Amino acid sequence: MTEKFDVIVIGGGPGGYVAAIRAAQLGLNTACIDKFTGKDGKPAPGGTCLNVGCIPSKALLDSSKHFYHLQHDYAAHGISVSDAAIDVPAMIARKDGIVKKLTGGVTQLFKGNKIAYYHGTGKLHAGRQVEVSPVDGSGTVSLEADNVILASGSVSIEIPHVAIDGKYIVDNVGALDFDAVPETLGVIGAGVIGLELGSVWNRLGAKVTLLEALPDFLAVADKDISKQAARVFKKQGLDIRLNTLVKGAEIKDGKVTVTLGDKNGESQLTFDRLLVSVGRKPYTEGLLADDCGVQLTERGRIQVDEQSRTTAAGVWSIGDCVRGPMLAHKASEEGIAVAELIAGKPAHINFDTVPWVVYTDPEIAWVGKTEQELKAVGTEFNTGSFPFAANGRALAGGQGTGLVKMLADAHSDEILGVHIFGANASELISECVVAMEFQGSSEDLARIIHAHPTLSEAIHEAALHVDKRAIHRGN
Ligand code: FAD
Ligand code: NAD
Repeated sequence: MTEKFDVIVIGGGPGGYVAAIRAAQLGLNTACIDKFTGKDGKPAPGGTCLNVGCIPSKALLDSSKHFYHLQHDYAAHGISVSDAAIDVPAMIARKDGIVKKLTGGVTQLFKGNKIAYYHGTGKLHAGRQVEVSPVDGSGTVSLEADNVILASGSVSIEIPHVAIDGKYIVDNVGALDFDAVPETLGVIGAGVIGLELGSVWNRLGAKVTLLEALPDFLAVADKDISKQAARVFKKQGLDIRLNTLVKGAEIKDGKVTVTLGDKNGESQLTFDRLLVSVGRKPYTEGLLADDCGVQLTERGRIQVDEQSRTTAAGVWSIGDCVRGPMLAHKASEEGIAVAELIAGKPAHINFDTVPWVVYTDPEIAWVGKTEQELKAVGTEFNTGSFPFAANGRALAGGQGTGLVKMLADAHSDEILGVHIFGANASELISECVVAMEFQGSSEDLARIIHAHPTLSEAIHEAALHVDKRAIHRGN
């Protein structure tokens, strides 16, 4: 027998589970199929984000940050601690507990919203027929819906001659679960994951070397930010090697030897562990039957229009498996928009105001265009900036590193981009997203009262500085 739904969501990550909840809120009879199984062998909806991505990485970033500050910064406050030690299994168990709580929370939300949750693999056939193969091996289940949302996410990219074994050579999954601090950790790719997970183990005492193919560090960020960040991260102990191409890696006697090619020719480095973090690719394995009518792009993403419709009628797709940045909040907003479109409501996503955050310490966050992007297309702009070293709250908290940089249209003063390197940048960026969403100007932010003393005053001062009237810096 085929069970019929209004909406079936395949994939229960931040794209899929949020889409399912919104669809159910709108009165649609909804099912969500997700195959993720937690470390305890139990169903664990929440996708990459909750299980092996955003949340566990932030849990370890937080633990390791405490340990680092204890050793490097507390003395300045007059606090002395001797024999500080890290219990890695306890830190990992704390992380696992947080993951369990949140994935359990998704299961509860499914129940509360009367969403039928299937722990299995979903395959889309023609006519929006969906076949579910349960993870527990019980017989397949046939479902059918007026609308299907594909939210199958992404997986790590592997590189030739560097085989991930999960112990010595790992991707994000393994690097979130080391049982001890490696003495040396090599990281291929100095992108977001390399910097975040590299920072975790560096703070706990590993000697971390980042091997980056590109000549520029964090090329997606604004140059003023990435330059300052590189200096700070190097001081923290991260050995960042640019222009470095990895040709292969070999595990021998419990060590990993990496063969590199750089401007000096071929060389080798040996590490205790190696993390491969060279990007992620859309995951659609086993998702699409030949007759389902959904087409993929040349790069393997599910092809969608600007409203997330695929090439098959009534089939939508969201999140990491479609175009756009691979970010949890982007996936969730797409999920909400698609559910609302299905329910006949208007919905729109503004891809120009998706914030980016790198959870290093200090954090990096931005929204909108970088200076190099504006220059490349010949947009005339004014720049304002403000260093946290001149912000009272930052100094009081020992957080005087970094800056806020604001870019505004030279003619209309509309804010085109804001770039922050500093403590709590992840939270501070929201004000700038709101301003940009409302097509605000730097003058708007300059005239808004910001509480004193707060880090947000640096945004206020950067906005004032666009017009060269900052108070606490030279103009
Ligand atoms: P996913 O979260 O990948 O979920 C897809 C789900 O679908 C998975 O559970 C998968 O098992 C399931 N699935 C796939 N195919 C099928 C099928 N056929 N049947 C049933 N189930 C299926 N983003 C941020 O915004 N902030 C961060 O701080 C952040 N940190 C990250 C840290 C790491 C280490 C990693 C790896 C990623 C991080 N990301 C972060 C990215 C973020 O995790 C992704 O952008 C987000 O999870 C994408 O959501 P999604 O719903 O599209 O896919
Ligand atoms: P990334 O794209 O951020 O960085 C990959 C880096 O690897 C790039 O700098 C690239 O130049 C480099 N690279 C590629 N091939 C290489 C090679 N052969 N040798 C050496 N360097 C090479 O990818 P990632 O760090 O794997 O993260 C994947 C995605 O996950 C991110 O793009 C982001 O969408 C998401 N993510 C987001 C967050 C966050 O929002 N805080 C955190 C982690 C992951």
